[in-house]
Amino acid sequence: MDYERWLAAAGDLLLGASCHGCGRPWWGLCPVCREELSTRRPFVTTPLPCPDGFPLTLTSSPYDQLLRRVINAHKERQALILTRFLAERLALSVHALLARQAYPRHVSKIILMPIPSAARTVRQRGFDATGAMARVAARRLRVRYPIAVRSALAQARPVADQAGLGARARQRNLAGAFRLQRPLGPGAAVVLVDDLVTTGSSLTEGARVLREARIQLLGAATVAATVRLQRPSRPAIAQDESAVFAD
Ligand SMILES: [Zn+2]
Repeated sequence: MDYERWLAAAGDLLLGASCHGCGRPWWGLCPVCREELSTRRPFVTTPLPCPDGFPLTLTSSPYDQLLRRVINAHKERQALILTRFLAERLALSVHALLARQAYPRHVSKIILMPIPSAARTVRQRGFDATGAMARVAARRLRVRYPIAVRSALAQARPVADQAGLGARARQRNLAGAFRLQRPLGPGAAVVLVDDLVTTGSSLTEGARVLREARIQLLGAATVAATVRLQRPSRPAIAQDESAVFAD
């Protein structure tokens, strides 16, 4: 019995563990769900309607039931075993974004900058899911890029929970909601990162803050995107290219 199966069996015995994607007995994410997700390739995503100032954004997958379960398990139940897996998806999106453009020579450091969660939410969860994902993704990407993570964006004021708000209400809720906590060094360019893009208001607000601070923004990368009335564009990354991130 290989190690993973042993872990699955042991987890099942001890905790009655089940796959975070499909619910069958497993520890973490079962091979079927993993295989299903691993076939998906990053694509450019644009919310409909698209807010003014929304940055170029690459995502690793449409937000379907499977990814909703996995992202929620990671966030709400702090299933840390999923951090590595989601970070891998995020790294693919970042790589696809950077592969699309020749970033200028003066860029000496690429900064992954997580979109902040409401401070209250992080306190309740005791866990910054996006930050954790970004740090693991950066470790993967360092083989190719001069990359680091800075959680430099913060909430400038309290905001309502975005869930349950419509696109316009979300934009109003987040307008002027972020601020830059500390300056970045010279030669830094930013990729905004988040687990999910829905209406695009968080990424748009993040882009606004960076523009005002005259910090170069290369774009944004997310694990998943709600895709409405649009098809994924052609895969932005060749299948064999993603092998750089395989173990
Ligand atoms: Zn599964």
